[in-house]
Amino acid sequence: MTKFTDFAFCPELQKAIDEAGFREPSPIQTQSIPLVLEGRDLVGQAQTGTGKTAAFGLPMLELLSRQGNLNQYKNNVAAVVLVPTRELAIQVSEELSRFSQFLGLKTATVYGGQPYSAQIRAMHNSPIVVATPGRFIDHLSSGKFDLKPRFVVLDEADEMLNMGFLEDIRKIFSYFPDERQNLLFSATLPPSIKKLIGDILHQPEYVTLSRKNITAEHIEQSFYVVDEHERDDALIRLYDALLPTKSIIFCRTKKEVDRLAYFLTSQGHEARGLHGDMEQKNREAVILSFRQDKLEVLVATDVAARGLDVNDVSHVFNYHLPFDTESYVHRIGRTGRAGKSGMAISIVTPHEYRGLQRINEKLGGSLLPKTVPHSHEIRNKKISSFIEALYIQEIDERAYEILEVLKEEMELSTVAFKLISMLKDQVEVRGKAQIGKSEKELERLMSRPRYDRHGQNGKGGPNRYKQKGGQYRGKNSSYGSHSKHRSRG
Ligand code: AMP
Repeated sequence: MTKFTDFAFCPELQKAIDEAGFREPSPIQTQSIPLVLEGRDLVGQAQTGTGKTAAFGLPMLELLSRQGNLNQYKNNVAAVVLVPTRELAIQVSEELSRFSQFLGLKTATVYGGQPYSAQIRAMHNSPIVVATPGRFIDHLSSGKFDLKPRFVVLDEADEMLNMGFLEDIRKIFSYFPDERQNLLFSATLPPSIKKLIGDILHQPEYVTLSRKNITAEHIEQSFYVVDEHERDDALIRLYDALLPTKSIIFCRTKKEVDRLAYFLTSQGHEARGLHGDMEQKNREAVILSFRQDKLEVLVATDVAARGLDVNDVSHVFNYHLPFDTESYVHRIGRTGRAGKSGMAISIVTPHEYRGLQRINEKLGGSLLPKTVPHSHEIRNKKISSFIEALYIQEIDERAYEILEVLKEEMELSTVAFKLISMLKDQVEVRGKAQIGKSEKELERLMSRPRYDRHGQNGKGGPNRYKQKGGQYRGKNSSYGSHSKHRSRG
């Protein structure tokens, strides 16, 4: 097993790694760090949560520190890291600052919606710049900077392209000298990214976490089939059954985010919405409360949650399925981080089931079908916790006084019945007894032949999900094996 000390980082960097509490390099780090240290260009196929920031950040800082006089970087940008969103810019910046604290190398964070002057000052004083493409190109076009970075990193390249930054990125590279080391990270490698790689990277090495590995094994993935009008009740029932400590619910539209955040709040959950129409200040406040555990549920659109890096998310809910596998993988990667287990739950209607099947096939059948728990089950669960709470409830002094008065009016057992009745809300279960499709109905749905547009029976029949004993099962994905291959060039 590789250890961080095997990379022989300088003492300042090793100290920062120790202080960060990193014990072992993650798979993407084990593969990438030696290649970056060799000076190679690199394409890393990995998403947020795999440790990719350290995978490029540590060897980059090591090489900068090896170039002798660190003072030469005091007023010279030596590394540019481009990221799709301001949230990610802040996170990457914080992570890099943590690693470089004993080297004394500063990091400037540059994104839109903030005054230019402070950013210009920061860029003049920092060897490392983490920036979103739009604002960075503004700075470059101003003519105030003549940058000759030794490193250029494109982080979440596929997201940057999805957000329409391709032209900005190409323009940014036109300002840079040819001699530089390029590192590109992307969860997916669609043709547009491959083209970009061909145009701006020099004979890169590829480090790939295969798709199977991207969906980490410690995320338990399941889906529930319900009718459209049952979605809200199913969600609340699942909350009562699974008791998530910190969760993100993904929706398709901003309107749905607002409605659902309001609905969950009305049901007694500490929920807030996050979407692009909110003011930046508001969004930051919501993210901060979620990060600091002051919020229990974050309801978000994909765009708003892009790059959101919050630890300890116990459950991710797809209130509506995303349109493609990449988004699904991005969404569920918010849970099950840093070796902790997580759950990803998708709610679909029979109509949406085909979409789910497509995603599930691409992920090797990792999503398991489940039935929404019956109201009895939840009720019993709530009664047990109620009784448990009653056991540990301490008796208040005033209770003696009040009971003395009550005793004169009624039987003690009547007092007890009435008191429990006052608290009956605590064992109340919302919605009808059975929500969503039963096991039988699921089985029927999953065994329906699948026809494509031309009326041909497609692949991916139902029985791949089913074990002999009638229990459902999906293939387990493994997190451990990774493949690396050299590029042609
Ligand atoms: P990233 O994929 O770079 O966004 O990293 C996700 C989280 O994992 C961050 O909070 C990192 O600080 C943390 N992390 C990265 N590498 C390691 C490691 N080798 N050991 C423990 N935690 C890590």
